[in-house]
Amino acid sequence: MRYGGIEAGGTKWVCAVADHPAEPLKTETFPTTSPDETVRRAVRFFAENGPVGAIGVGSFGPVDIRRSSPTWGTITTTPKPGWADTDLAGALRSGLGVPIALDTDVNAAALGEWRWGAATGLDTFCYITVGTGIGGGAVVNGRILHGLAHPELGHMRIPHDWARDPFAGTCPYHGDCLEGLASGEAIRQRWGQPGQQIADAAAWGLEADYLALALVNVICALSPERIILGGGVAKHPALLPQVRRRVRELLAGYLRAPELTDPDATDRYVTAPGLGDCSGVIGATGLAQDALAG
Ligand code: ZN
Repeated sequence: MRYGGIEAGGTKWVCAVADHPAEPLKTETFPTTSPDETVRRAVRFFAENGPVGAIGVGSFGPVDIRRSSPTWGTITTTPKPGWADTDLAGALRSGLGVPIALDTDVNAAALGEWRWGAATGLDTFCYITVGTGIGGGAVVNGRILHGLAHPELGHMRIPHDWARDPFAGTCPYHGDCLEGLASGEAIRQRWGQPGQQIADAAAWGLEADYLALALVNVICALSPERIILGGGVAKHPALLPQVRRRVRELLAGYLRAPELTDPDATDRYVTAPGLGDCSGVIGATGLAQDALAG
């Protein structure tokens, strides 16, 4: 049985077909343009590389993933032009005629890391991506976390020291939420250039502080056994070591787990994805496999 997977991001889509989700046979990446054009490209990819028994989609959001909802499969309130209220699952299903399994892009990435990446064997962990935007998915007690809607870790509120950082933030809903202060887009707007071009230690120190504040909130709320930090911004070599150190400092020894007090253990606790840039599309393909397995 061949499965299809789509990492449907706000910037680009990655489509894959696979007999085994962790071993894509063919992938294609294209920019996220209008809903019609983007869905059409995905449909063409699967028509040319199928047949597939089902397609799993890890979508940018917010997206309605409650199975009982009449608007299941719809991207809801995104500020991305043209995409609000797009019936993503419906458009794919009518284009391809196969079952569609859907979750958030970050929950799909968490699934990929859980089955085949840096979180195998764990019951409770978080996957957080820091790229153009910030999002987070989680597995809690052996289940992907859904709840009322789905986690929106990127929009948690964190302390904002206006004297140190007078930047107002980029989030159209909240201004200086985590994504508004620490996403790749926030870095670009605050410093006037993209993160890859910034060597200034103060810029990365600020970024590490914001991410560490967010991680401490996640640690206190969910008690994850590991936190995986993916996304383009998180790849900057100076970042992860600073984030780990700040997490330890902020927790101040209150939680007596070696992962949160011993530097060597923290290195394994806050870690890069095991599947590199492929967690999302591999996890999405895993959603299709799960859908067919019933
Ligand atoms: Zn926000």
